[in-house]
Amino acid sequence: MRVTDDRYSRDRLRYDLAVRLIRHEARTQTIRQWTGLTDDRIRKLYRSYVRASDGACVRRHRGKSPRQVSFFARSRTLQQDTACLVAVFSMFGVLPAQRLSEAARTLPSVVRGELLCDAYETYRRIAHEPQISFEHAAFLAIALAAGNEIRLQSCRRCHGLGFGDPLTLRTPECLSCGEPLRPAPPPVRRTATHAAPAPMA
Ligand SMILES: [Zn+2]
Repeated sequence: MRVTDDRYSRDRLRYDLAVRLIRHEARTQTIRQWTGLTDDRIRKLYRSYVRASDGACVRRHRGKSPRQVSFFARSRTLQQDTACLVAVFSMFGVLPAQRLSEAARTLPSVVRGELLCDAYETYRRIAHEPQISFEHAAFLAIALAAGNEIRLQSCRRCHGLGFGDPLTLRTPECLSCGEPLRPAPPPVRRTATHAAPAPMA
């Protein structure tokens, strides 16, 4: 009985997260990656979600998922938006304390997916004109966790967070005060006094 209950609550969490991801217009591939549900179950869930929400318009994105970290540095506005999102990721404990190998496979989990949604929803509320889609946010979280193409940086003067590209020698500047950014300490430890400890995936 107990096993059945546990299994039921685990499935329930998966479905709840999947509905949240559908609302954020995540691609099927992204929903599968974070919830572990099959494409077939996701499609059924999507159909019943649309029915239950009275045909509310949820766009479904086709084509490839984001792959270019250069997107986040494309304009000053996007850089500011990304710095905001990175700070919220750090606050919610979305990012692991250590860089992950195979982050696309090892970062996603239901628990982290919930944190990612919490962080993304907060970003949408606090950003002036949010420019970053959920797909790009999920891609950013994985890219930061891997740390190969983009890394978390912090400002020693104003404690702002930003990001840098480890492949170039250029030192990124803090968007708030212009100070050169430095590699940030592990994000989970930084936020320990401000938020509940991040559950480990
Ligand atoms: Zn600064």
